[in-house]
Amino acid sequence: MNIILLGPPGAGKGTQSQRLVERRGMRQLSTGDMLRAAVKAGTPTGLKAKAVMERGELVSDEIVSGIIGEELDSMGPESGAIFDGYPRTEAQAQALEKLLSDRGRTLDHVIELDVNEDALVERITGRFTCASCGKGYHDKFEQPRLPGTCDKCGGTEFKRRPDDNAETVRTRMAEYRAKTAPILPFYEAKGIVSRVDGMADMDSVTEAIEAIIG
Ligand code: ADP
Ligand code: AMP
Repeated sequence: MNIILLGPPGAGKGTQSQRLVERRGMRQLSTGDMLRAAVKAGTPTGLKAKAVMERGELVSDEIVSGIIGEELDSMGPESGAIFDGYPRTEAQAQALEKLLSDRGRTLDHVIELDVNEDALVERITGRFTCASCGKGYHDKFEQPRLPGTCDKCGGTEFKRRPDDNAETVRTRMAEYRAKTAPILPFYEAKGIVSRVDGMADMDSVTEAIEAIIG
């Protein structure tokens, strides 16, 4: 099973990916997470990507498709992939076709998280993650059960993304509208797109996704 979760920043792609990883043992392929790891490690890719990400613009298609290819090569054929934040342009959608077919994989579903953009600034500016395991939280919508302690790993340090500020979010939304939303018709023509109400509570969104992927 290979699926794409598609939606603007803050739509809930990472949240739902983490749940699918836990429930189904699928692998989350988040280009955002991979790029942030490269920035932190100071690799050549990270050095190229850092300023672009801070502005909320898109990193080059070659870089992100390259890291997705490497990630797919590190996976056994039995593990399913959840593409989270990739593809984001038409060129990436084309690249993914080849990356999958070269490895004997097919795309089963593209799940679009349908959200009201006005709510996304609040979602993004309240977002934080566990510094040890990466579990996602929100100041208002998902606090750790025990304040200051990660539900999943017991970690006590949390972090916020430098690009999760109201100004950068606007650029990221504009990039989504201009470059990412236009790839939907490509997948619609294949008959594999399903839409989920991303404004519902997190558990309802998970149920709707589970119903689609079966
Ligand atoms: P994306 O990966 O699409 O950018 P996230 O999954 O990181 O989005 O979600 C952004 C923020 O919104 C997170 O802090 C998350 O806890 C919160 N969130 C995710 N889904 C929902 C939801 N259905 N209702 C309310 N808040 C949500
Ligand atoms: P995300 O974690 O998905 O919100 O991504 C954070 C940032 O990483 C984006 O604003 C882009 O700068 C960059 N990025 C992540 N995925 C991609 C992609 N598929 N194509 C281009 N840039 C990306």
